[in-house]
Amino acid sequence: MASTTNAFEMAQAQFDHVAEMLQLDPQVCEMLRWPMREYHFRIPVRMDDGSIRVFQGFRVQHNDARGPNKGGIRFHPAETVDTVRALATWMTWKCAVADIPLGGGKGGVVVDPATLSDSEKERLVRGYIQVIWKNIGPRNDVPAPDVGTTPQMMGWMMDEYSKLSGKYTPGVITGKPVGGGGSLGRTEATGYGVIFTVREALKHLKIDASKCKAAIQGFGNVAQYAAIGFIEKLKGTVVCVSYWDREDRVSYTVSKEDGIDPHFLHSITDQYGSINKDKAREAGYVIEPGDAWISKDVDVLIPAALEGQINGETVHKISPKVKLIAEGANGPTTPEADEVIKSRGIFVVPDFLCNAGGVTVSYFEGVQNDMNFYWTKEEVLEKLDTKMTEAFKSVLDMSLERKAYMRDAAYMVAIAKVVKAMQLRGWV
Ligand code: NAD
Repeated sequence: MASTTNAFEMAQAQFDHVAEMLQLDPQVCEMLRWPMREYHFRIPVRMDDGSIRVFQGFRVQHNDARGPNKGGIRFHPAETVDTVRALATWMTWKCAVADIPLGGGKGGVVVDPATLSDSEKERLVRGYIQVIWKNIGPRNDVPAPDVGTTPQMMGWMMDEYSKLSGKYTPGVITGKPVGGGGSLGRTEATGYGVIFTVREALKHLKIDASKCKAAIQGFGNVAQYAAIGFIEKLKGTVVCVSYWDREDRVSYTVSKEDGIDPHFLHSITDQYGSINKDKAREAGYVIEPGDAWISKDVDVLIPAALEGQINGETVHKISPKVKLIAEGANGPTTPEADEVIKSRGIFVVPDFLCNAGGVTVSYFEGVQNDMNFYWTKEEVLEKLDTKMTEAFKSVLDMSLERKAYMRDAAYMVAIAKVVKAMQLRGWV
């Protein structure tokens, strides 16, 4: 496969590889290699000092054969349309593999949200909806939070859409605050979902989870709950997490060989996932370079920050002790690194299976909004566990049956479902 760190080229290379294995019809490939629709737009925002700043926004709808497009909106200074395209494509596969009746979409704004005041953020998210509201909705495209966006922002977006459309429409956005149409368990969903698949993978590998050590990249929403789940649900040890330091403009790994305490680290973390390293040091943590997490002598690696982190350069730093990589982030592994991981026989739970917990509970949120009846957190997390376990099993069965790498098997399960829906609708 091609050596690339462009996320969309990676998504296309992964798809092409499996399309070839499946000998997919060229027309079907033509449909699935590219998003069905995409919107590029400018959002003018009045800043607190009275000036106007214009932001670049995107919304990409990859494929809605199986149901309304679904996917988060990311606020990141390095956002590009290719990242959004890749993430939208992966959403199509993610919904299919998790067997939820939704398609793939994604949005983005080129901005560092930490540089905006709360009122500027509110005007920006409302501005985003003012531009795109006619092209989204509960029955065609349902956004959600992602890196750099929060439940509060989703609440503002839902409110703006409801005002513009003239009716209260909670189902237009998921990841809303609890009490404002949000679902209990959404905050924990992705990280815990990662852990449900780690549990199943370790069972398959016949490894006792309670004797396992894990190293995690990132300390945002996904990484925090993956750490808590690994320690509290699986009784394992997490030796480090990492984060992007906003002041120093570099990433750091925060380590404690006998086990980090994610609740403590959370208490010294800002809302963008940056840990206060002085307070961490005072509590006995060691601050190491950002890429130290990948070379730790652990059984499980959980990349849960951004795409392209396990690449041609970093993959060789992975310890021979590592038996499992659970991809909490979207697209953390480049195709080049994938080849190395494959040849070393490391078991991989691929991203769109591993982190499907978030979209699964987002789907539950939409269902609860439609019913106007809300489940308890226990009910939500139990239903999530069932869905994630079933999804893992379907991919593992495919991998064993076709003697395929887990990522390829996940693509096979997902592509089959999307192609079937397109055929049923007469598209191909
Ligand atoms: P987040 O913004 O809450 O956290 C991101 C974390 O990564 C922060 O701790 C940040 O400091 C850290 N980080 C950023 N760049 C880094 C770098 N170069 N090195 C080390 N750490 C770095 O984001 P999140 O919601 O936790 O999402 C993380 C990943 O999981 C993304 O790929 C996202 O697309 C994916 N994902 C998120 C969800 C969800 O529900 N939140 C669902 C599916 C997939």
